[in-house]
Amino acid sequence: MRYLAFFILSLLCACQPQLQEVNINRKDADAVKPAYAMVIHGGAGTITKANLSEEKEKAIRAKLEEALIKGEAMLKANKPALDVVEAVIHILEDSHHFNAGKGAVFNHGAKNEMDASIMSGLDLKAGAVGGVGVIKHPISAARAVMEKSVHVMLSGEGAEEFSREHGLEIVDPSYFYTEDRMESLKRVKAKENKKLTEQEKHGTVGCAVLDAEGNLAAGTSTGGMTNKRWNRIGDSPIIGAGTYANNKTCAVSCTGHGEFFIRYAVAHDVSAMMEYKKVSLQEAGNEIINVKLKNAGGTGGFVAVDKDGNIAMPFNTEGMYRAYIKPGEKVVQIYKD
Ligand code: ASP
Repeated sequence: MRYLAFFILSLLCACQPQLQEVNINRKDADAVKPAYAMVIHGGAGTITKANLSEEKEKAIRAKLEEALIKGEAMLKANKPALDVVEAVIHILEDSHHFNAGKGAVFNHGAKNEMDASIMSGLDLKAGAVGGVGVIKHPISAARAVMEKSVHVMLSGEGAEEFSREHGLEIVDPSYFYTEDRMESLKRVKAKENKKLTEQEKHGTVGCAVLDAEGNLAAGTSTGGMTNKRWNRIGDSPIIGAGTYANNKTCAVSCTGHGEFFIRYAVAHDVSAMMEYKKVSLQEAGNEIINVKLKNAGGTGGFVAVDKDGNIAMPFNTEGMYRAYIKPGEKVVQIYKD
């Protein structure tokens, strides 16, 4: 009995320093890692003070801020990252200021064809829809594909039929009609063979979240490119190109010239560089957007949050509608500086 008591006592003493060390390390990590973090974008392009009216700038800033506030309230209430991504993207999809949902651009045939995707960093589950025209919130259709089908990506009428069957909100195509986007289509068609500004061509919305449980998720939703033809689908609904999330590394949502983002597998490349090259999110972002993509002639950027709550918002265009929120920190930006 005496031996047993002695044995237990020595065991406790031996373990004590180790336990303390673990606690200290955890404390250190907690000190730098925010309880939650969220970053959003409303598209990148030729966005300068000169070509954005004061009124429009104010409205866009207010919408981005509204999305931040909604996301933060959910994160404070311990809502999962996926729910936050979906709800925040709804706000952006419902605004005519961004090229997604209500504000989606027109294709060559004056129709709206939207793309969206969502990914969970916890289990690498993902869902996407491409070329849909009657789903009010394409991001929710992407989530339904992820959670209620055995597939990752559905397109066109099939995706719409699936969405109907799963009770998603269906609207008449006229819901997506906006005067602004029709004017853009006319302008783009009038100079079809001339060089168009980035702003006239595209736009997108996206969101990346680190929730209170430490889970990451990302989502992207877009109307694609003005005047697109032949059922063109861009990077936004392609997992690894426009969207990616992995709890080991980061959550990413891209915006820009989709063909380049597909070819350079941009969203996955950010995560892969962090995982294999052990570089920071900032370094990966800079290398991909300002070196690889820029040298190839690809315009755009992305927003991302890593597993430790660090935020990156690199872009190689004149501006990108972007914003992030962490406990005690709220930032909304449009132009380069
Ligand atoms: N990436 C989108 C697309 O190519 C457009 C954008 O983000 O501006 O469809």
